[in-house]
Amino acid sequence: MSLQFEGIPAAPGLCKGKAVVLTQEKIEWAGRDIGAAGVDNEISRFARAVEIAVTQLEDLSRQVASTLGEAEAEIIGAQSLMASDPGLAEDVTNRISQELVSAENAVQDACEEQAKMLEGLGDEYLAARAADMRDVGRRILAILTGATDRAALVGNLEPDTVIVADDLAPSETAAIDVANIAGIVLDGGGRTSHTAILARSMGIPAVMGLGNATGSITSGDLVLVDGNQGHVQVNPEPGQLSKFGQAINLEAIRKRELSLLKNLPGVTADGHHVELASNIGGAKEVSLVQDSGSDGVGLFRTEFLFIDRNSAPSEDEQFEIYKEVLSELAPKPIVIRTLDAGGDKDIPYLGIPAEANPFLGLRAIRLCLQEKGLFRSQLRALLRASSFGTLRIMFPMVADIHELRAAKREYESVKAELESEGITVADNVQVGIMVEVPSAAMQADVLAAECDFFSIGTNDLVQYTMACDRGNPAVSYLSDPFYPAVLRLIARTIEEGHRKGIWVGMCGEMAGMPPAVPLLVGMGIDELSMAPASVPRAKEIIRNLSYEDAKGIWHKVRKMADRAEIRSYLEGLVEIGE
Ligand code: PEP
Ligand code: MG
Repeated sequence: MSLQFEGIPAAPGLCKGKAVVLTQEKIEWAGRDIGAAGVDNEISRFARAVEIAVTQLEDLSRQVASTLGEAEAEIIGAQSLMASDPGLAEDVTNRISQELVSAENAVQDACEEQAKMLEGLGDEYLAARAADMRDVGRRILAILTGATDRAALVGNLEPDTVIVADDLAPSETAAIDVANIAGIVLDGGGRTSHTAILARSMGIPAVMGLGNATGSITSGDLVLVDGNQGHVQVNPEPGQLSKFGQAINLEAIRKRELSLLKNLPGVTADGHHVELASNIGGAKEVSLVQDSGSDGVGLFRTEFLFIDRNSAPSEDEQFEIYKEVLSELAPKPIVIRTLDAGGDKDIPYLGIPAEANPFLGLRAIRLCLQEKGLFRSQLRALLRASSFGTLRIMFPMVADIHELRAAKREYESVKAELESEGITVADNVQVGIMVEVPSAAMQADVLAAECDFFSIGTNDLVQYTMACDRGNPAVSYLSDPFYPAVLRLIARTIEEGHRKGIWVGMCGEMAGMPPAVPLLVGMGIDELSMAPASVPRAKEIIRNLSYEDAKGIWHKVRKMADRAEIRSYLEGLVEIGE
């Protein structure tokens, strides 16, 4: 029977293949209670199982490092650390010896409690780590009970397999037989889960959050996966199948066409240049920047260096990372944003008090100006690394000139401190701000007079202009940069920046949206920074455009009052090639 599902587009691409449905085998074991005499035996069973789990994970991590790369291997490496964590061993040992329960029960309870604790921190990123914790627990339990290892199953597939599962643990995803997998379809999961991150870097189309695909799909069914839109079609009609086959062929042709642009500049047909840069969250993404044909990095979100650990990275640790990114991409310019903690990026050890409205609270530059030690150690690391490439430092969430001045005072004082220590600081470091608060856009003229560049952060600019929480699906209809009020603030920021002679870029999600590109070029944007994978398409749009036409597009749009009209007009302009 032909069936259709809609889910979350978690990893892009189109594919078709035969379903292999994996459901979680329930791991079972004999009794829970042990007598006092059994304590030592259970503790040594647990210790032995951990040893095996760590060896398995280390082997898997080495295998992943050679097939996928270091960033992916680190996810598995982190699981190996979780498995050998002395805190977990202590918790399990205490449960065995105090509650007199089996190693299996103690492991299950301890891992579940830690996973729940991670989920309860109210942070999407940490909640996703709960999946890693459960994965580790399941691995140790499987070793203790001799249950089937699903990772071994997915590591040996028939060609063109679509895995359909309730959920896939990150270690299972990493173990996937890449040569034979076509796609992934999951009942659970979300875009920021490690499974999604791995699927994207492995280039496997994936749709997640389908609810009950495993209940409706049977192994052997023909499945079409559209990871761009989040559609899944099961046992399609012949007409649907041939249409999908054409779409797959077109996608392959488009990929080849776009790859030809890699070494060409982002320049319009009439010679107007627009810098195309990448957004990254760490040094591991440098190779993606290189492969994308980017002109540099327009946003390095340094908060990812602070997340998922128990204390802030030291000045030296940060220095090594900034140095690596700057030197590997030199002489390309790298915009490194100072810590943007707070809001939805909760970093528990920073001790930000609970707030009723975290997005309006102690976030980003506000926090850094209060936690001077934290701010200064990041600035020291940045300036020490400055002589290894072309550094641009960017302050997030600046709402008023007094914040920019206070941040620059710290910058100047750190620079003087380093120079007095005989440390060389490059003399071409630019200092700019994100324009992502409406007050900053309204005062763009004032701010532009005192910094070297602007980068427009539309993710927050939209949320603050339209008064809609960027993570709340109930108001997501307001979360769109094509509302006229947002467009006016963007245009104003570019105009005022140019009037004061500084360059203006954009690093919010809007920069990588194909329909936005001609409009932003027409407004005069100097740089667009986006996910590395989006750069080739943006470059193609720019190269097929004339600057004069782009200006005409903006003049037309500025007269439109209706967001839907604006969107459909702009989407129509870039439809071919989508
Ligand atoms: C933005 O707000 O547009 C932005 C780029 O920053 P972030 O998404 O990290 O808040
Ligand atoms: Mg922001």
